[in-house]
Amino acid sequence: MASRTSLSRIGGRDVFEKCYKFMTADNARAMGVYPFFRPLDFNNGPEAQLEGRKVIMLGSNNYLGLTTHPKVREAAKNAIDKYGTSMTGSRLVNGSMRLHNELEQKLAAYHGKEAGLVFTTGYQVNIATISALLSNKKSVAVIDKDDHASIYDGVRLGQAAGARMVRYRHNDPEALDQALSELDTSEGALVITDGVFSAQGEIANLPGIASVVKKHKARLLVDDAHALGVIGPGGRGTAAHFGVADQVDLIGGTFSKSLASIGGWLVGERKVLDYIQHFAYSFLFAASAAPPSVAAAMAALEVMQEEPERQEKLRENFTYMRNELRRLGFELGKTETAVIPIYIRDDLRTVMMWKTLLDEHSIYVNPFITPGVPPKQQVLRTSYMATHERHHLDRALEAFEKVGKKFGVIS
Ligand code: PMP
Repeated sequence: MASRTSLSRIGGRDVFEKCYKFMTADNARAMGVYPFFRPLDFNNGPEAQLEGRKVIMLGSNNYLGLTTHPKVREAAKNAIDKYGTSMTGSRLVNGSMRLHNELEQKLAAYHGKEAGLVFTTGYQVNIATISALLSNKKSVAVIDKDDHASIYDGVRLGQAAGARMVRYRHNDPEALDQALSELDTSEGALVITDGVFSAQGEIANLPGIASVVKKHKARLLVDDAHALGVIGPGGRGTAAHFGVADQVDLIGGTFSKSLASIGGWLVGERKVLDYIQHFAYSFLFAASAAPPSVAAAMAALEVMQEEPERQEKLRENFTYMRNELRRLGFELGKTETAVIPIYIRDDLRTVMMWKTLLDEHSIYVNPFITPGVPPKQQVLRTSYMATHERHHLDRALEAFEKVGKKFGVIS
């Protein structure tokens, strides 16, 4: 007779158990202070609509305001008419079309690199690139501790294949130097940093990092998601900003910010990209970027170059906000770009300020709270667009001043 004990051992703990016990979101919803997954009615630029109410949008990565640009819309619509809505296959097989290759060539030429590769998301760029390059057992990833989640996930996949991960102190070339000096890098080292850090808006010290990478004969991958269109001549990003593009082996990014679409990109040496496209499972076995997404990104890249005044206006807007917010007494960290975090350093206060800004002033910002950020790093993340006008920014500043005083963040 099968004993009860042996039967009860079959199965064991239910993997759904933690889901049934997860109450944080439900509790916050019940209290009316849940800030996430709220569907916008429209997100057309500096003014959006949330649950029937107009809001000033300070929470979008549509840096150049191109999601509604006539040429970009037109390109996406034409691509649907011409090619349909999806390639329904991966790049390896039926998912590639000349449109992908054309954009790859344009991105490579724009960055002055030999070749380009188009992905389905920016997240996939990091997962695919990093895991493919770390597939050698004992190769090592050396990453900034504040790198984006997709970089961490790419490294984790590499770790599953035997690679190691070492984190260095945030944006500190000396710490990187020390880490590389202490490591056995005989099986190769890949250093990875955000070009512009996504929560802080801070620019990576690429000249310092690149020279350390060179000294140790490692390779350097820069994630320029928040830099393209924002910094550097012609919006070319962090490496171009410092004039060190020739010292960065691989530059990657997303279509989901300045390029007003969805997808990702990587530029570098042809042989390296060819290897990645043959060895990264997350690239090989995922459907390719859809034609309207690729066409929209291509049009946005063109508009970016045809209308350099957008980058100028963006810079004017974020510089104005950085100066004015500092003048009001807010702590902004080291931002120099279109992402301006307002440090609150407390979960409840961050959420209450987010709610007051939205409910009482119709200002939309993104609260970053734990566990999404480490304790004491909670911020209201604000981000700016070329299409914000001064009256939007002044209305936001008025609201920030009132709410900042109400919650004792400024005096
Ligand atoms: N890298 C960074 C630095 C990002 O901020 C993001 C998205 N926020 C990504 C990668 C992922 O890009 P995507 O949204 O295209 O998946």
